Amino acid sequence: MNNEFYLYEIIEDYQNASSPEEQNAIFHSFCDALWENGSDRTLCTRAVRFRVRKDLLHTGPGQVFDRWSNLEYTGYHAKSPQTDWCSLIRQKINNLYTRYFDRQVVLDKEYLALLNTPKRLYFRWTAGDNADPEETSAAIQGALAQAEALKVRCQQQKMQLSWTDYQRLIEEILLRTMRNCRPQIANEPSAYSPMYDFMDEDHLYIRYFCRCLEGELLKWQKQYYGLNDHKKYRRCQDCQCLFELRSYNQKRCSRCQTLHNRKNRTQKQRLYRQAKAASL
Ligand SMILES: [Zn+2]
Repeated sequence: MNNEFYLYEIIEDYQNASSPEEQNAIFHSFCDALWENGSDRTLCTRAVRFRVRKDLLHTGPGQVFDRWSNLEYTGYHAKSPQTDWCSLIRQKINNLYTRYFDRQVVLDKEYLALLNTPKRLYFRWTAGDNADPEETSAAIQGALAQAEALKVRCQQQKMQLSWTDYQRLIEEILLRTMRNCRPQIANEPSAYSPMYDFMDEDHLYIRYFCRCLEGELLKWQKQYYGLNDHKKYRRCQDCQCLFELRSYNQKRCSRCQTLHNRKNRTQKQRLYRQAKAASL
């Protein structure tokens, strides 16, 4: 079982293997250990919660705040309680899937700040700010509507890939990483930076693998959207895909721009026809 070895031992074994078959076997048991690791990807319900003080519950603003004192959203377990290489790399793999592909989880900072609106306003009110029930209610509903719209945009920004296909992609990346990994990584001067004093040799390799996974997924995202390297790109304001920027003012990908132009043209024609009919 690979998990009984340190990561650097597996890398050394891989690089010193006597045949490609032996390398293959080492790599596959490395992957098996990752996939069989108990750290499954788990979602959970989180909430922005606060309790309206009992003596304020009967007041107008108190009742408004109480209505929005428990706003739930979907979160995920982002940290592994275990610190062995297998659990840590598997956690990274899980987190990257959640970040790029799982539409259920939206953890955009702005989104969470908007969900936090009732709580923020409540504490401002208890600190002495005025709170008119109707205005407060309207402010909260406005913020939550904004949050909902932002959530949809963030969901559109996620790419589509099944977990099984993702596993295949990850194995390709891990194979490249394993091949390119230099076993002397721990002997490099930067490895002795005082910042990393608490880390053992294995942690340097774990960090290396996690960085490679992150970098390669960013590259893969460019491929997914058909972007070339070293070009500037932006998110389309309609479909949220990434597109290559041809002019600074460009707001939409070419597909959405075509749809947008068509819609505009139809609308103009309709207005023109209406105006013409009115003038007859
Ligand atoms: Zn678009």
